[in-house]
Amino acid sequence: MRCVGRFAPSPTGEMHLGNVLAALLSWLSARQQGGLWRLRIEDLDPQRSRQEYADGLMRDLEWLGLTWDGEVIYQSQRTQVYAHCLNRLASMRDPQTGLQLVYPCTCTRNDILAAQAPHEADGRIVYPGTCRPHSASPDNSDNSSPLLRRAAMRIIVPDVEIEYDDRVYGHQSVNLAAHCGDFILRRSDGVFAYQLAVVIDDAEMGVTEIVRGRDLLLSVAQQHYMRTLLGLAQPAYCHHPLLVNAQGQRLCKRDHALAVSAMRAHYTAQEIIGNLAHAVGLIPEPEPLAPQQLLPYFDWSRIPRNDIMVSE
Ligand SMILES: [Zn+2]
Repeated sequence: MRCVGRFAPSPTGEMHLGNVLAALLSWLSARQQGGLWRLRIEDLDPQRSRQEYADGLMRDLEWLGLTWDGEVIYQSQRTQVYAHCLNRLASMRDPQTGLQLVYPCTCTRNDILAAQAPHEADGRIVYPGTCRPHSASPDNSDNSSPLLRRAAMRIIVPDVEIEYDDRVYGHQSVNLAAHCGDFILRRSDGVFAYQLAVVIDDAEMGVTEIVRGRDLLLSVAQQHYMRTLLGLAQPAYCHHPLLVNAQGQRLCKRDHALAVSAMRAHYTAQEIIGNLAHAVGLIPEPEPLAPQQLLPYFDWSRIPRNDIMVSE
């Protein structure tokens, strides 16, 4: 089977060095296997997404020499597909309890925080199941009724370990009931959740390999669960360490000095690519290189697990 990789940025800010690392590693892995590399703009959230950022991301990718195959997919144009898939999941029942797998939730964020055990130190919010139905109802729920339109839609998760392997971080085992609880498929404002959209998009785009930052390592379990329900193949996963600043904080869109648009004034594309390749251990010394020239050096076994500090 031919490898199909992808880069899937949100157009909510300028492309920064952390995005470049995700794109570069994904591009190298797919190209080294003679595969395709697709581009998807994750603009589901109309409040935060801007076309000018999407245009900027594409200009930066081209400037860096990270070329993609086929048409660019915009999630904002695919809401019909997501709605269809949500309906499919809503027609399913939990084999153990007979409950419908998808249910409306009217909790606010404060409701959920108030119901949560106070020891969640890492900032994770685990949905306590407040709105989960207690008994199986006849199959007459209509998710499109006006009353429910302002509710979020959640999916029941099983209380079992979901196991998968990551190319860099190794074997993972996540219990969704403990990790996040029943999670959202569609927000109360009607915006489809990332977890639902990416599973459908990756399947339809033929993606076989997903490369992204290690902050998303555990969320694979949610996507793994939905693919199982929908009868979709599981792709390979390769998570990479994050780029952090001198304070150990992950780079973000606010660090303007590390935006590609700002770095273009001081560095060539090949300098940026070569420095990043050196930072993640692909080449022994930083030297200007085009992505294509890095292909002979690329090897997942060289990618470290620890985060990488970069300075401006
Ligand atoms: Zn609720």
